Amino acid sequence: MGVELKKLRNIGLAAHIDAGKTTTTERILFYSGKIRKMGEVDEGSATMDWMVQEKERGITITSAATTCFWKKHRINIIDTPGHVDFTIEVERAMKVLDGVIVVFCGYGGVEPQSETIWRQADRYRIPRLGFINKLDRTGSDYERVFEDMKKKLTHKPVPITIPIGKESDFIGVIDLIEQKGYRWGLDPEGIKYEPVSLTEEMKEDMNHWREILLETVSEFNDEILNMYLEGKDIPPNLLKEKIRELTIEGEVYPVFAGSALKNIGIQKLIDGVIDYLPSPLDVPPMKGINPETGEEEERKTDENEPFSGLIFKLSHDPHLGLLGFLRVYSGKIRRGQTVKVIPVNRRNRVLKIFIPHANVREEVEEAGPGEIILVGGLRDIKTGYTVADMKHPIAFEPIEPPEPVIFVAIEPKTKADEDKLVKALDILSMEDPSFKVKVDSETGQRIISGMGELHIEIIIDRLKREYKVLCNVSKPYVSYRETITERVEELGTFQRIISGKMHFAIVGILLTPLDKGRKIEWEPGIVVPVEIKNSVEKIIEQNLEGGVVAGYPITNIHVKITQIEYDKENISEMAIHSAASIAFRNAFLKGKPTLLQPIMKLEVIFPEEHLGDVISDINTRGGKVQSIDRLKENSVIKATVPLARTFGYATTLRSLTQGRGVYTMQFSHYEPLTEEEIEKITHFSPVQ
Ligand code: GDP
Ligand code: MG
Repeated sequence: MGVELKKLRNIGLAAHIDAGKTTTTERILFYSGKIRKMGEVDEGSATMDWMVQEKERGITITSAATTCFWKKHRINIIDTPGHVDFTIEVERAMKVLDGVIVVFCGYGGVEPQSETIWRQADRYRIPRLGFINKLDRTGSDYERVFEDMKKKLTHKPVPITIPIGKESDFIGVIDLIEQKGYRWGLDPEGIKYEPVSLTEEMKEDMNHWREILLETVSEFNDEILNMYLEGKDIPPNLLKEKIRELTIEGEVYPVFAGSALKNIGIQKLIDGVIDYLPSPLDVPPMKGINPETGEEEERKTDENEPFSGLIFKLSHDPHLGLLGFLRVYSGKIRRGQTVKVIPVNRRNRVLKIFIPHANVREEVEEAGPGEIILVGGLRDIKTGYTVADMKHPIAFEPIEPPEPVIFVAIEPKTKADEDKLVKALDILSMEDPSFKVKVDSETGQRIISGMGELHIEIIIDRLKREYKVLCNVSKPYVSYRETITERVEELGTFQRIISGKMHFAIVGILLTPLDKGRKIEWEPGIVVPVEIKNSVEKIIEQNLEGGVVAGYPITNIHVKITQIEYDKENISEMAIHSAASIAFRNAFLKGKPTLLQPIMKLEVIFPEEHLGDVISDINTRGGKVQSIDRLKENSVIKATVPLARTFGYATTLRSLTQGRGVYTMQFSHYEPLTEEEIEKITHFSPVQ
């Protein structure tokens, strides 16, 4: 606590899986004195990968946040996950970051997933640094990766440090701003580094790259351009300042060289975080809507503004209960204070404030703008909710959870664990909005759904380890959707005497196909009391959720209530519900209903010699190859594949490529099923 805002950095590290994000984070924490012993991913002791599964799998799933100090600056680091099944975590983290270090493998270069991450950072306009890691590795090549970045990524790369030596002879870096070389290897942990005198060859290399640096900066800045053209000495601080401005504006990104594993170049990268990434004061004010007036408002990074913050992750603590990760945008939050939780407009009291460090946390009394904290006591928060000053509420744009696409039926191995399971699933779905739980109304089975096979696997694993519930699960099923293909209007009438009382209502409903999503609307001019309005909408939503033909949720549809009649003296909610349901279901059945299936975007990288096998496997899965590119001796295939045909892909790819292929898979869109495919799915017969 207690550093000026100008000296605060909220950053994340993002990377293709295996690029070295966790190792780099560990080094940053180690050199900044936050941890005493260096953790190694390969030994399963890395501080940020704190969940057991992550240690075993060597991947990072949950964003943990931590904080450290460097040269009188405070750096908050949010650890973003690398697996695309968990994209929502990346998005949540991105939303509250001011800057990001994108780690690239010095051998693999810009892999498809790095491009995805880059595009996400573009979407949130986050300034970034590029770190070319693993330059100790055989086959690594700074220049090749730099060219790859230039070609594939938005913004222009500006080299800041370049490697001295290659592969096993990689010993240090040249700082192009200072025009000095440094070497590591003086102590086993790379704490010390010292200047080296540059050989002629190194000087040539430095001049070549410094020219690239100056040319790139000159494209955007006349002052540097003129000095460069006139051959003047450019003061390092001026150059830094200009690169900082251009980085924050999103024109360029500084690039660093190093090896996290061999402890080379990391300190220069941390300097880069301070030198080039924005403080909370450098980012534009946060925009939101005042829920009381509907007007747009802004919150500046300023202690004197009313308090506001965004919840970007929830976590459940066995002792403290619900904890929220909160980014403070304006004002101060204090222990004991009451705040408003939006959009639910509830009053909650702040009971505890912590500064998080992976699985350890430090309790504090208050926190100010720009801070990333953990808050206890806020009962009504959810991911994406805004927390604000009681008198000055504001709603920031929420984080939209993606739709789950696969589901499995789950039950405890022993009946006695039923309650434990229900409780655990409750907590897990609360922490992770892309994971859902429901009970099938017909079979009574408990169904869980998520964003991919791995996502579900991890949940099952957490149930076993953290909640000690062993479960039986069904094989994964695809979450199909129902929709209609034609516009239809129907009237539903309900009229019946029950226990001597007349129940009567007529409801008219018009259904129209949509490209995506669903919408409920009323014909303008219909005036009904708000309770009736809500109750009709609720019954339609229930019908949409439960499906009409095969029990799958309905999507790509516009529902318009065109008419409603009922006995105003003798209102029967039951009659209104029934009439609305009858109208909806009849219209749906007449609208030529069909089933939609989720289509996944697949990206596979593997050694070229397996190209034929990988393509023919994609074809047998009914996939469509969209592009085939080369990345050194690897092939990169982009394809779309129906989700239903992707199960077990990890195993197949492993055997096709002798374990060398990697892939990412992500929901893309829904597509109609063919008649043949529909026939294969039980109990669905399209009505003619
Ligand atoms: P993440 O998936 O991006 O978090 O990557 P990790 O930090 O877990 O690293 C993945 C693998 O690469 C591990 O086996 C690391 O030991 C290894 N690794 C990380 N950094 C380097 C490096 O600089 N050089 C080499 N040769 N290996 C590295
Ligand atoms: Mg990792």
